[in-house]
Amino acid sequence: MKYIDPHIHMVSRTTDDYERMAQAGCVAITEPAFWAGFDRSSPQGFYDYFRHLTEQEPARAAQYGIKHHSWICINPKEAEDVGFAREVVQMIPEFLQRESVLGVGEIGLNKNSRNELTILEEQIGVAAQHGQLILVHTPHLEDKLKGTKLIMDAIRRNGDIDPGRVLIDHVEEHTVEHVLDRGFWAGMTLYPDTKCTPQRATDIIEMYGAERLWINSAGDWGPSDPLAVPKCRLEMARRGHDHETIERISFGNPLEFLSQSGKFAI
Ligand SMILES: [Zn+2]
Repeated sequence: MKYIDPHIHMVSRTTDDYERMAQAGCVAITEPAFWAGFDRSSPQGFYDYFRHLTEQEPARAAQYGIKHHSWICINPKEAEDVGFAREVVQMIPEFLQRESVLGVGEIGLNKNSRNELTILEEQIGVAAQHGQLILVHTPHLEDKLKGTKLIMDAIRRNGDIDPGRVLIDHVEEHTVEHVLDRGFWAGMTLYPDTKCTPQRATDIIEMYGAERLWINSAGDWGPSDPLAVPKCRLEMARRGHDHETIERISFGNPLEFLSQSGKFAI
């Protein structure tokens, strides 16, 4: 059964991971721009990163029959220096024109600071101005609910953005209902320990249904699992979910959301 992993940081993964994902049924991935595990020393470092996302990774993925798309932005962890961040934000429109780029992301908040919010609002403005989809990163643990609400309010305030064109990622049990109730899409990140495990994600599907919900591995340079999506499908099957629901959460829903960009193609 084929699947899409709509959030994974392949710049941090090996070519062996691409091969194993293809063997498990992965046909497409999308890779948001994010923190690299260290702060870049110059805005130009982001220019090279965006080239990596839009030139190198699509070619590497294609060797295994996986279609690679990406999202462009400056992440909240590197947005504390507003002057630095604005230089990066100025580079975004050039990359939005590239054929594999689906929108602006993953923007959001990390520590819910004033400077992070300023740069978040400016990037929401860029997305609105260019008619782009948005992929949102939400903060961790105790900052998550407050940060999720601040982000949703900022999207409502800035530009004429349909919440159906925004996906709020890393939802957990205490945030998913807030996100879905306001008309946004929600993403569950399947980490081995933190965020949602495959078991917790399956619990959430059982509580809230499968509408406007997707699952992703968010595999990166830290503890994470590039095969988390097929593992969650196994957990759902083990609990007796039907083929249609499993297919919807791991393929149909990401296909529906991403296709709104007009550029997503498998
Ligand atoms: Zn991410």
